[in-house]
Amino acid sequence: MADDTDASKAGVSRRSYLKAGAAGLASLSFATGAAAGQEADAPGTANAGGATLIKGGTVVTVDPDHGVYDTADVLVRGGEIRRIEPNISAPGADVIDASDAIVVPGFVNAHLHTWESGVRGVAGNWTFMEYLEKMLGNISSHYRPEDAYLGNLFGAVQQLNAGTTTILDWFHIANTPDHTDRAIDGLQDAGVRALFTHGPPGDDSAKWWENSSVPHPDDIRRLARERFPSDDGLLTLAMGARGPDYSTDEVTRHDIELARELGIPVSMHIGSLGPGGVAKLDDLDLLGNDLNYVHANRLTDEEFRLMGASGGSISTTAEVELQMGMGMPAIGDAVDAGATPSVGVDIVSNVSDDLFTQLRTAVQVERGLRNQPAVERGEQIQDVTPTAHRALEYATIEGARALGLADRIGSLTPGKRADITIIDGEDLNTAPVHNPVETVVFQAGIENVDTVLVDGTVVKRNGLVHNATAQNHLDRLEQSGRRILRQADL
Ligand SMILES: [Zn+2]
Repeated sequence: MADDTDASKAGVSRRSYLKAGAAGLASLSFATGAAAGQEADAPGTANAGGATLIKGGTVVTVDPDHGVYDTADVLVRGGEIRRIEPNISAPGADVIDASDAIVVPGFVNAHLHTWESGVRGVAGNWTFMEYLEKMLGNISSHYRPEDAYLGNLFGAVQQLNAGTTTILDWFHIANTPDHTDRAIDGLQDAGVRALFTHGPPGDDSAKWWENSSVPHPDDIRRLARERFPSDDGLLTLAMGARGPDYSTDEVTRHDIELARELGIPVSMHIGSLGPGGVAKLDDLDLLGNDLNYVHANRLTDEEFRLMGASGGSISTTAEVELQMGMGMPAIGDAVDAGATPSVGVDIVSNVSDDLFTQLRTAVQVERGLRNQPAVERGEQIQDVTPTAHRALEYATIEGARALGLADRIGSLTPGKRADITIIDGEDLNTAPVHNPVETVVFQAGIENVDTVLVDGTVVKRNGLVHNATAQNHLDRLEQSGRRILRQADL
């Protein structure tokens, strides 16, 4: 973009920061008052009630009624998308120059254990069984409430940096109510939109994850009452249930009924160890459109049919599934069965945390699986599916549907909340832009995410993250992660 500087191109680099010390930080990843003028406020304060005009961008709305505008402006006021059309006049608005850039809905990362950002990159060679033993049986027990805070704060800030504006945060280190409260504080201080998905403690994996007969912690009632009194804020509540693969029938029934009593959705890992979980839910008469199924790799055709018929959603985390021996990503099976498809990162202990990579992996694997029968018949394929546009829907509007938020986010539609990502089309790996949707899905990466808005608030601009809290705590994440791994003897 026109006003790019060397500083804005530097990107996030914790190592460089640590070398440079606090004085050098302004020139690296975070915006400061000096570097970014008046927008260096904490999340939730930047231009909160005012207007923002995103000017002259190629606008990919992911809304079938609006399609793609070659050049248009997006007017945001009071955190809401008000108008999308060419040449909007908005005197007094904060103007963001989006010429030579692509404006898309903020991505929806439908599955993330955000707390693991403190132990980034330790599990890239682990099997699923090793992960259950080392992460949930060991590392998670050494997290203190402040580690949960730091993990969630930085995990969420990095999602914003990568163009993701909404996450489903599947929190399974609810070791004490303090852990949970500090994790929620971390999301709040990050300024992300999140479905905080309260799971079990991480203090004893056998107790909570091996055919568990212990019901979901009752603390979720307190959270619903005290931390999530309304459902119209940036943060809303869901239950991370163990479900039939990890708990008894009685516990599965208890947990899902508790979530329904509280009026919140349920997300559960299912089908990555073997089939039968969804059939069990059907036997227990518990299926419903408030259930989100994570992975689902080894489910039967009949189970996919049941998920689709009951209005459920599936979250595919392709890189992790391929690595850890869960099975092939099942997003195509979910689509064919009429379930809502979505994509997620899962765990940065193993894989990259940007949705560009995860979406691309999921979609190219889905294409490969669809192509394979023709390959095996010795024939040439007739077309390529899913298309790039359909793939972009997985990461935006379908993800929003999976999280129950499609009436508020997931597309650039007047009346929806202003969660917006602006991608530079002039970088070496994005220029020239001939097809903006293909550029976003198959060419772009974190380094091209120029500007991000959540609920109308600028959280990244000119390549710089705006978050004074994270900026001030960066060294603490490093210390936290090192202490945890030391105590876990890893
Ligand atoms: Zn997971």
